[in-house]
Amino acid sequence: MREFNAVVLGAGGVGKSALTCRFIRNVFLEGYDPTIEEAYRRIVEIDGQMSQLEILDTAGAEQFTAINEFYIKSGMGFILVFSLTQESTLREVDNLRQQIYRIKGGPDPIPIVVVGTKSDLTAEREVQRATIEKLVNHWGLPFYETSAKKNWHVTDVFENLVRQMRERYPED
Ligand code: GDP
Ligand code: MG
Repeated sequence: MREFNAVVLGAGGVGKSALTCRFIRNVFLEGYDPTIEEAYRRIVEIDGQMSQLEILDTAGAEQFTAINEFYIKSGMGFILVFSLTQESTLREVDNLRQQIYRIKGGPDPIPIVVVGTKSDLTAEREVQRATIEKLVNHWGLPFYETSAKKNWHVTDVFENLVRQMRERYPED
């Protein structure tokens, strides 16, 4: 069975742990410790193929750190998370995106999915669909709006990333 690893990155409090736990355990995490970092494993079947997926839920460090660099070096794919209810968290996604390209470099595409979380909190929404669509088109990256609470589009994120990783790291 193929093995892939993915790293979930983004500012603190955007919902990285809630997204990961919805996918892994199908529960909604409320008030999870933001400083806890954890790795999860799950076997996933996508397009009739089984893969072992390891997901590292990082503890949102806001600055460039040696730790981020280590994650980026060891990761095969990346989920860059911001909150639709907090426009400032988009900047961290762009920083991380640039850091990934700088560290991984090279001509090969890097598996990345951009995620805007908390889509259920419509009254608190700060990032408009048009704004983010313009950005991700410019970046050339896939994007999903998710709600870990309502389980909207969570699976889509991980499936998209696994498909990208399969292409990028073909079996030899
Ligand atoms: P992290 O620091 O990025 O891991 O963020 P957490 O996953 O711990 O989430 C921070 C807070 O946002 C917690 O209180 C979560 O319950 C809440 N949260 C996360 N995702 C969602 C969501 O999709 N909808 C709503 N309403 N709240 C969410
Ligand atoms: Mg967390």
